[in-house]
Amino acid sequence: MKSGTRTVDRSSPSEVGGEAPRRHPPEDSTDLPLDSHLHTDLSPDSDVPIDVYAAAAVERGISEIAITDHVDFDPGYPAYAFADFATRESVVREAAERWGDRVAIRFGCELTYERRHEAEIRDHLRRHRYDFTIGSVHIAPDGPYAAERVASFVQGKSVAAVVRPYFEEVEAAARSGLFDTIGHVDFVKRYLTPHVMPDALAAAPELYEPILRALVASGTALEVNTSGLRQSARETYPTTAIVALFRELGGTSVTAGSDAHRADTFAFGLEEGYRVAAGAGFRSLAFRRGAGRLRVPLPARFRT
Ligand SMILES: [Zn+2]
Ligand SMILES: [Zn+2]
Repeated sequence: MKSGTRTVDRSSPSEVGGEAPRRHPPEDSTDLPLDSHLHTDLSPDSDVPIDVYAAAAVERGISEIAITDHVDFDPGYPAYAFADFATRESVVREAAERWGDRVAIRFGCELTYERRHEAEIRDHLRRHRYDFTIGSVHIAPDGPYAAERVASFVQGKSVAAVVRPYFEEVEAAARSGLFDTIGHVDFVKRYLTPHVMPDALAAAPELYEPILRALVASGTALEVNTSGLRQSARETYPTTAIVALFRELGGTSVTAGSDAHRADTFAFGLEEGYRVAAGAGFRSLAFRRGAGRLRVPLPARFRT
């Protein structure tokens, strides 16, 4: 099942910026209804068997989880041809059966979006049924944000010019209307640190506007991804201010996920993710369980 070398740096623990200590923040609570972004050992950068997440969800009182293993369309990306649809579907559906009386397990995926592969992604989604889909832009091994290239790429450039290649791709993903939500819209913060710090992006919210407007236009949700809290950016992807701007521009749907790739980061920071959504004025999370889209209310304590 495991493929060979990893050419794309994504969310495994040894990556740029490292990860926070392995304990959950003490405030992480047990009344959270949903973690909608999780990777199992059916992703090349995770080694977590699905039952481990299911048991953790039961223990933490998280009543629903979406398994969103990577689906890549470029041979240069690690999940390309890693685990086929039938395998992923049967593993998740069988686990859903086994655990069904204790935790709801949904079959989702995280598709790596690139404009050059949009037709293939569209075709994949036409032929395969998921409960829930995340479209995300990752860091191309031959792109400007690769570790060996990023320092010289940012040299002498404005913040706008630095984020442009990533943000343009995310905007196209948002505009495509292919996905339920767009994952970690400013994940590039992780790769820019320490050359360009998250504060520099925070000072330029207008750079996010084309992405947020595209989400509104296509009716796609915006994800609050909490993996940034344990990576070099030390904040969610994106922050409360950007989620609030999304709402101001007409956005009505947000999702929240820990993007765990390891057992000890299951639901990590999810509490904070909910706070970000609530702080931006949202009272529920967007989700889908195969059929129509629905809303999962945030616990009452977030909706003050
Ligand atoms: Zn991702
Ligand atoms: Zn992910």
